[in-house]
Amino acid sequence: MQILEDSFGRRFSYLRLSITDACNFSCQYCLPNGYCRTGAPAPLTPNETSNLVAAFAELGTWKVRLTGGEPTLRRDLLEIVDRVVTTPGVRRVALSTNGYRLRELARPLFDAGVRGLNTSVDSLDRAKFFEITGVDKLPDVLEGIDAAFDVGFEHVKVNAVLLAGLNDTELDRFSDWVRTRPITVRFIELMPTASNQDLFKRRHARADAIRARLLTQGWAPRMRSEGDGPAEEFTHPEYVGRIGIIAPYSKEFCKTCNRLRVTSQGALRLCLFAKGEVTLRDLLREPLQREELKARLIELLATKEVSHYLPEGKYGNTGTFSAIGG
Ligand code: SAM
Ligand code: SF4
Repeated sequence: MQILEDSFGRRFSYLRLSITDACNFSCQYCLPNGYCRTGAPAPLTPNETSNLVAAFAELGTWKVRLTGGEPTLRRDLLEIVDRVVTTPGVRRVALSTNGYRLRELARPLFDAGVRGLNTSVDSLDRAKFFEITGVDKLPDVLEGIDAAFDVGFEHVKVNAVLLAGLNDTELDRFSDWVRTRPITVRFIELMPTASNQDLFKRRHARADAIRARLLTQGWAPRMRSEGDGPAEEFTHPEYVGRIGIIAPYSKEFCKTCNRLRVTSQGALRLCLFAKGEVTLRDLLREPLQREELKARLIELLATKEVSHYLPEGKYGNTGTFSAIGG
């Protein structure tokens, strides 16, 4: 079987597929001015999505995450989930969401076969959540997460982008929250994009301080298992949940890369911080194009670079993660 492997021996079993670049939040670090219509063509249809995912699955991809923008804004979300879940070879389907509609969608998503859920919660303080995201929806998001457990999700991952002076003192509050809940909270270091340059200068904080505090508070690094991504996770015997760190400037970040990204317009991005992307959409019209699509994927993967160039201040052509899926 052909598999997606790059020139550095990294294998790509995980696809992050953005299904819309639209969003109803305006997170300071992602869409500071809110979403503006771009005039771009409509995102991939369920049919195009099926053809895309089938090709990836035939090349060894077994995990697919639907992301955005905000994927729950797609009216045909459940149809897309169904197409992905039923693709031969796909064993795990996950969704990243801002949690805005999770309360009502948790049940249908679970019933449709979604088993992994990532929700952004940048602060557990309602006023700060509002300040960061532009919406006063913390209670709804937290209720959505509880609803996810009620309908059968066993574990939820929560992402919080670390922002100096805003949420970087909330470790204890987040730890208390996961004491009795099977939630992994991952503090993500703010990453630079074209739309957050000023914020990056003011608010970028390294996760080292969080790591140091976790270690002094009795948290221990969790053994990595195969297929784990770049998050470094910590467990504690008195806590059901875990705390994690995602630090793009760390040496391990690119070594553990196991994911490829496709934008809502059907373009492959080899790296979050790539200088560009290559369209696949012309090969997504029908299943008969699958061999050609697979050949293009393999050819493109051979050009993937060993690492990003963030330490040199280069973040590729990334305008905002809402267009790529984060
Ligand atoms: N709207 C969904 C959400 O917020 O979870 C899914 C899409 S969002 C682009 C995916 C992830 O990217 C979120 O966890 C978000 O916090 C993260 N993200 C967006 N911009 C970022 C940045 N500049 N640095 C670090 N993480 C970022
Ligand atoms: Fe929307 Fe997610 Fe970006 Fe926030 S991080 S603006 S919720 S896409």
